[in-house]
Formats: sequence, structure tokens, C-alpha cells
Amino acid sequence: MGVHSAVGVGSTFWIELPQEDAELDSDAEAADADQGESVIEPSELNNHTVLYVEDNPINLRLVTQILGRIPRVHLLTAHTASLGIELALARNPDLILLDINLPGMDGYQVLDVLKADAGLKHTPVIAITANAMPRDVERGKAAGFFDYITKPLDVERFLQTVQHCLERGPV
Ligand code: MN
Repeated sequence: MGVHSAVGVGSTFWIELPQEDAELDSDAEAADADQGESVIEPSELNNHTVLYVEDNPINLRLVTQILGRIPRVHLLTAHTASLGIELALARNPDLILLDINLPGMDGYQVLDVLKADAGLKHTPVIAITANAMPRDVERGKAAGFFDYITKPLDVERFLQTVQHCLERGPV
């Protein structure tokens, strides 16, 4: 069990589960991450901040565990759209991971707010969503998402995409 705190925005708690329990999430691909095929050199990543906006605690926990494998990545999490926007503005992350299906304000609306901010408009935003129909993917790319990743997560592809974003810097 751990705690992640961000000044002024409260804390996010998570519980580390054994692998066999994690697979109950229907994200069995998480087990593939243990095969060690994505070796990320620590020297290539230097204290990057990643913000993940997601209301589902299972997905929050899964992504927290996956990104915990990348050295020098500092993960901020927000479970609501408004908290996510607040954190993005306050912390200017290097990469934003954004759920589409958020209560009250969906990911497209959040993206519009982020892109309207001078300090964030070049920050890559990756959609992470269960909306996997081709028209959903097309809409996501057209809306300005850097990439559009569907659930359940393909851990290898997810890590590669995150690594690619962090290495290339702002769009
Ligand atoms: Mn959601």
C-alpha cells in the first residue's frame, strides 16, 4: 500500500496486489510486463512528470504499477477532470494520460481546456479509453490527442508510447 501526495490537491492511495489478483482486472497483459522486453535505460529519462487523469481506481492502480517500472518518472494522478486540469496547470507535466469516460466532463472537453492553455498546448496528451471502435480512434486522433490507447492496456505498446513521448519532449 502506498500514498501519493501532491501539494494542495490531496492524496491518492493504492494497494499493491499479487500478480494473480491483478489479473482479475481483465488486464491480464500486465503479466507480460514481467518478461522484461521493454528495457528502458535510466539515462534516457530524466525526472519526467506524467499526469494520469482517470476515475477508475483499478486502472489508476494498474498504470501506477506499470509506470513505476520506469526510472525517474514521477506520476501524478487525478480521479476527476477538474482535479486533472488543476494539476496540469499547476505542475506542467511532460506527458498527460487522459481517460475519455470521466464523470461530468469527458476527456475531449478536458483536452480542449488543456490545448487552450499557452503553457500546455504543446504537451502531449494520450487518450486511454475503452472506446475502441475505429470511429472512436479516428475521433481521438482528429481531436488532437497525441495517441489513442485502448483498454485493456497492451503493456508493451503502452510503455513504448510513454517512452517515445518522454524522449521527444514537447510536440
Ligand atoms: Mn473512466
